[in-house]
Amino acid sequence: KMRMPDDGPPSKKFKYTLQHKNNGNHVSDKLQQERRNLPIYPARGKIINQIQRLDTAILIGETGSGKTTQIPQYLLEANVNKNAIIAVTQPRRVAAITISQRVAEEQGTELGQKVGYCVRFEDVTSENTKIKYMTDGMLLREAILDPLMKRYSIVILDEAHERTIHTDVLFGVVKQAQSRRKAKGIRPLKILVMSATMDVDHFSAYFNAAPVLYLEGRQYPVQVFYAPEPQSDYTFSSIVTLFQIHRVEPPNKDVLMFLTGQEEIESAVKTIRDITRSTEENMAPLVVCPLYAALPSHAQLKVFKPTPRVCLYIYLKDKKLTDIEAITEGCRKVIVATNIAETSVTIQGIKFVIDSGVVKAKVFNPNSGLDLLKVVRVSKAQALQRTGRAGRESAGSCYRLYTEQEFEQFSDSTVPEIQRCNLSSVVLQLLALGISDIVNFDFMDKPSTESIIAAVHQLHNLGAVVKETSIKLTPVGRKMAAFPLEPRLGKTLLIAKEHNCLEEILTIVSLLSVDSVIVTPQSKREEALAARQKFVSSEGDHVMLLNIYKAYKAVKGNREWCMENFINQRNMRTATEVRKQLHDICVRMDFPVKSCGNDSTTIRKCLAYGFFMNAAELQKDGSEYTSLSSRKTVSIHPSSVLFRCKPAYVIYNELVKTTKCYMRDLCVVDPDWLSEAAPAYFKKKKPGT
Ligand code: ADP
Ligand code: MG
Repeated sequence: KMRMPDDGPPSKKFKYTLQHKNNGNHVSDKLQQERRNLPIYPARGKIINQIQRLDTAILIGETGSGKTTQIPQYLLEANVNKNAIIAVTQPRRVAAITISQRVAEEQGTELGQKVGYCVRFEDVTSENTKIKYMTDGMLLREAILDPLMKRYSIVILDEAHERTIHTDVLFGVVKQAQSRRKAKGIRPLKILVMSATMDVDHFSAYFNAAPVLYLEGRQYPVQVFYAPEPQSDYTFSSIVTLFQIHRVEPPNKDVLMFLTGQEEIESAVKTIRDITRSTEENMAPLVVCPLYAALPSHAQLKVFKPTPRVCLYIYLKDKKLTDIEAITEGCRKVIVATNIAETSVTIQGIKFVIDSGVVKAKVFNPNSGLDLLKVVRVSKAQALQRTGRAGRESAGSCYRLYTEQEFEQFSDSTVPEIQRCNLSSVVLQLLALGISDIVNFDFMDKPSTESIIAAVHQLHNLGAVVKETSIKLTPVGRKMAAFPLEPRLGKTLLIAKEHNCLEEILTIVSLLSVDSVIVTPQSKREEALAARQKFVSSEGDHVMLLNIYKAYKAVKGNREWCMENFINQRNMRTATEVRKQLHDICVRMDFPVKSCGNDSTTIRKCLAYGFFMNAAELQKDGSEYTSLSSRKTVSIHPSSVLFRCKPAYVIYNELVKTTKCYMRDLCVVDPDWLSEAAPAYFKKKKPGT
């Protein structure tokens, strides 16, 4: 029977991995040696010289060469930053957190001291911080308060090829800060753009013909295998492939599997663990590690731990050793990740890559002006990056779960998010930055004028902007921009203030801002639904979320309670933390945080006023819904408490497209509230007509 280093009955079994015994100094020496072994190390002096000399530079080097972890340290060690802070932006919070932890370790300091990070709802920096890893969204928010970015002497725009909406806007904002500082004679701002892969000419042209520095990388050959025929279920195919590799390949070589999101990854991880447990064959143990953005940082760090090659199981009874159960040798680690592992983080020991060929992406729906979260094909460039992950340390293999013909159909590179997403958040932020001529903003690739207009319309509907000679933020819009939330959620908070129910709406908004706190394991579906019954509300998912939060608070976040009620404790904790921060912003803005008690009608009304653009009405035959904004057919997601209820009018938090277009997180509303919320908006699309 297989041994699972990760699982086993909790509390009874204790695991020792023999590899992690290290004393402090020893680790530090080893780390310094590791730093010197990185491909970037020989270029250290050259890089420092070049960046010392240049205002703006572009740096390209293979993933894993050491760009993100080393360059900021080199610049700090040579004081290129002239004692000011070095900002390093990352498109993903996971990357910002794990990398800063690593760099703090390499610098031998506590995280939050010399090296820190800052992501939405979490700031781990101090006045001693000199290297600050942050999400691009955070730097953008900071720029609202300080458009010249005065506290930074160097801004490193990392993972530039990702072209997230925030990175793209940041490009323009940082460029502007640099030229304005020059004009005003303020300390110069250096810009360093880094990536593993990018359209060099395009980037260089945009950044005033900045020179490009190439790093030599190490890349071993990777053998690519294509699926012989198109696969209908990529998760299933990934798992089958994993066990094929596991059976025939020698252990101690790890596998990296690319899937698309938290739910899918957790369910795959569970299936893999179930299979390994039920297999009687004598296979080496598999250590399964999920990796996705919402994972708490201690779990994320687990993927970087060297795979235990020897595991010792010790049974404990009454905290006394009773039996050494088994010693197993030769483990294999499998990391089941989103595209975070494509370029942002490097994991050692990977020899096999399983590429599903898909990624979850936001896709803009120009009809409704809303984003849709959708699983889409990766680009050729992304597939190539994924393949490369197998050849970091030695020759490897990549299993592509699509045919070669399918691959030929992939687009060459990913379309920048700014050209395919809803721009309302960005336009709100640009306006808050004092940039009103958005159409002529210095974008690297301009979004379509239609999408800018659609965003301005949305903000106008929410009362955030007025159109005079130019577009201006209203006082409402200015307040909305103070919250790190998308405009509809920000607006809902402002409305809640008027209706004296901020206490409740803060909770709901926080719960909507984190990954789902509800767990429904496939194997215990009935049990989970039964446990949840006591929170269920006929008024919809928002009210249920509120009920769950109240119950959670009443038991002080008790772990057993979470298990019994199928509540994800860590997502719940994150939501609590988010709530605290939003609460702090409310206090700073003098918003009275009042409770409306059990008046759920008022709560629903606030949601309707904020989300009137996401409203749908039941069709005459009572089967499906029609969205009021786009007049498209939409359905209630099976996970919703309203799945079987079918109220006449609902608002939803988001649309997800799988087999159908599903509304997720729904709330029952009165159609009158919708027209009250935005009379002009509904003049044309009147509910009930
Ligand atoms: P690049 O930015 O060029 O892709 P990085 O600087 O991110 O490269 O990574 C350099 C090396 O540092 C990688 O090979 C990786 O093994 C190691 N590394 C990065 N983060 C961690 C971490 N959190 N724990 C252990 N090793 C890490
Ligand atoms: Mg990097």
